[in-house]
Amino acid sequence: MPKRQYRSARSVRQPTGDIVNRLQQLARNLWWTWNTDAQRLFQAVDPGEWRATNHNPITTIASVTHERRAQLEADAAFTANLADCEMQLARYLKTKTWFDQTASRREKRLHVAYFCAEYAVHECMQMYAGGLGVLAGDHLKSASDLGIPLTAVGLIYRHGYYRQHLAPDGSTQIAYPEYDFRDWPVSDTGVVIDIPYMARTVKARIWRMLVGRVELFLLDTDIPHNRPRDRHITQFLYGEGGEYRIQQEIILGVGGRIALETLGIEPTVYHLNEGHAAFCTLQRLRRLTSLGASLDDAIDFVRETTVFTTHTPVPAGNDRFEPALAWKHLQPIGRDLGLARRDLLAYGRENPDDPNEPFCMPVLALKLAEHCNGVAKLHGETSRKMWLRVYGTNDPSHVPIRHVTNGIHVQTWLAPEATPIYRKYLRPTWVGAFPDEDWWANVDRIPPDELWALRNVLRAKLVTFIRSRLADQIARRSGPIDELIHAHRTFREDALTIGFARRFATYKRAPLIFRDKERLARIMGDPDRPVQLVFAGKAHPLDPQGKAFIQRIYRNAKSAGFRGRVVLIEDYDMHIGRILTAGCDVWLNNPIRPMEASGTSGMKPPLHGGINCSILDGWWPEGYNKRNGWAIGNGQPLHSRGAQDAHDAQCMYELLENDIIPKFFDRGPAGLPRRWITMMRASMRSIPAKFSSHRMVADYVQDYYLPAHMGE
Ligand SMILES: *Cc1c(COP(=O)(O)O)cnc(C)c1O
Repeated sequence: MPKRQYRSARSVRQPTGDIVNRLQQLARNLWWTWNTDAQRLFQAVDPGEWRATNHNPITTIASVTHERRAQLEADAAFTANLADCEMQLARYLKTKTWFDQTASRREKRLHVAYFCAEYAVHECMQMYAGGLGVLAGDHLKSASDLGIPLTAVGLIYRHGYYRQHLAPDGSTQIAYPEYDFRDWPVSDTGVVIDIPYMARTVKARIWRMLVGRVELFLLDTDIPHNRPRDRHITQFLYGEGGEYRIQQEIILGVGGRIALETLGIEPTVYHLNEGHAAFCTLQRLRRLTSLGASLDDAIDFVRETTVFTTHTPVPAGNDRFEPALAWKHLQPIGRDLGLARRDLLAYGRENPDDPNEPFCMPVLALKLAEHCNGVAKLHGETSRKMWLRVYGTNDPSHVPIRHVTNGIHVQTWLAPEATPIYRKYLRPTWVGAFPDEDWWANVDRIPPDELWALRNVLRAKLVTFIRSRLADQIARRSGPIDELIHAHRTFREDALTIGFARRFATYKRAPLIFRDKERLARIMGDPDRPVQLVFAGKAHPLDPQGKAFIQRIYRNAKSAGFRGRVVLIEDYDMHIGRILTAGCDVWLNNPIRPMEASGTSGMKPPLHGGINCSILDGWWPEGYNKRNGWAIGNGQPLHSRGAQDAHDAQCMYELLENDIIPKFFDRGPAGLPRRWITMMRASMRSIPAKFSSHRMVADYVQDYYLPAHMGE
């Protein structure tokens, strides 16, 4: 096996000095992204800078002046905290993990390569658009916690995903900042690879991000060795369609596989998280045949060792390329594999004999991966119906797509304010956790007044956050002062707070609750039982309908009936996601069934006693047990979209009027809402353990990775 070639992290522009070096080192393992003590340590370095940089420790530390450094060095509490964090990290890395303790010797030779186009590890690195990235980031963190031998591959985007600002009329303004990766907690491996691409070679620099025990390698074509059009390839996440997309996917799939080889990493299993990375299979075929294998044998081997996860039934989420475009980019691979145009393109076609059918990335992945899954039980069913033709059958039970229900990384999404109560009553295992541990069963030990006090604290924190964000939004466009005054009066700390934050894909129907505005205004306007609604989310940059939804909500928020009680927070990201999912009492989800494959944001509120109110779509049919939340409708589809919208909105109003609002405001002794607290407990007891990414990753290991590794 070739020795690893990359050198250790290049040091970043910074003042020298021991304490600063130690902080930098701590920051370079992203373990801190799920450790509250380490985050608070970085924050203490310079709270203003920490906030201004969206919690970036590298730039926060780099801003330290000589005076400040001397202060920090002399601050006994600070240096003790630093030493404590260093010790915690060392202990984390040394602890025997679940995989160490349970895998056989042969199983321990497992090495998973995990491919994904986006990763949400932390808000200071804008290289994600939404749920797919969040899931991938959480997957890496749990793989690290559980000790799964896994190396991840992705792209690093110079301009990332867009920053969203809203104009005074509510229209979306798109801005792409330019990032300097030396300001990020990533390091340059010094390795530059050559990727054969059409008739030329594209070079890619490899960056490394360390996520606990797991390495994430990120390819960057924006380097001086490349021509401008090739430098462009990794600049924007989901910025353009068509040809730009296929170029990125070749860099990810083909380049990603070459990167692993160059780094001396020989995975035994490849996990393609979504179809974007499916060209990885073709590059593996190319390599195996170049080493002398027959194409049939190579295909068998690649199939046996590839895991593919499909993430959406929405057509726009499944890349399809016109045949001419696909062939233009794949011709050299076809030549190397000895495949004519039609034979190669057949791998991406549901009907291999139709020369006009576009080339579809998930189809390629399904055909070249033996181990395939959707991301919830219902999504597995939907996927089996959706991809019948790939398998030449009319019977969904013959389609070999199973499911692993998504989960979230609990420590990442847990509010710091919740940790003392957890430590005291729930007694969680963070380090050396086993995936099936269920310390949430201890939730009844939390006294009702303490649990309710925590909810009130988290809601108050959300209200403060919303006001300050609104003030920022107004300040940025020098908005009128009366708006500013109004911003400070927006929301109440004691109102029933409902949240809706997700990408503004149209199937998610963000404006549905406004279908009958008068009724909603009546529901929300009772001065004795105040209700407030917070929205956040970006539309795909090329989706005018999604942007129109944002504008509708924005206008409603400004209208007389809802002013001060409905807000839309700009520029949704992981930080906003954490504050919202922790602070809201109710988490609303109203997609068109069965379009929401999973909808992981709903798994976050229950960590803090938040309660879901959702269509029975995605993960919710598995999560809902009648006591831990609300189902909107019964899952039966209606004949038309209009009828469905009317019916689902009606259901929401009835739930609010008859159940949700009365329960929240039914206060007993000491002002406690007993029935509400009972539901909070049911939500906490039944959801976080089952929908944690530890459980999810362990499912992948047992049902997908190990069978693929052992040739089963
Ligand atoms: C959790 C999360 C998501 C995923 O939400 P869905 O419910 O799957 O749409 C997307 N973006 C951010 C910032 C999140 O925190």
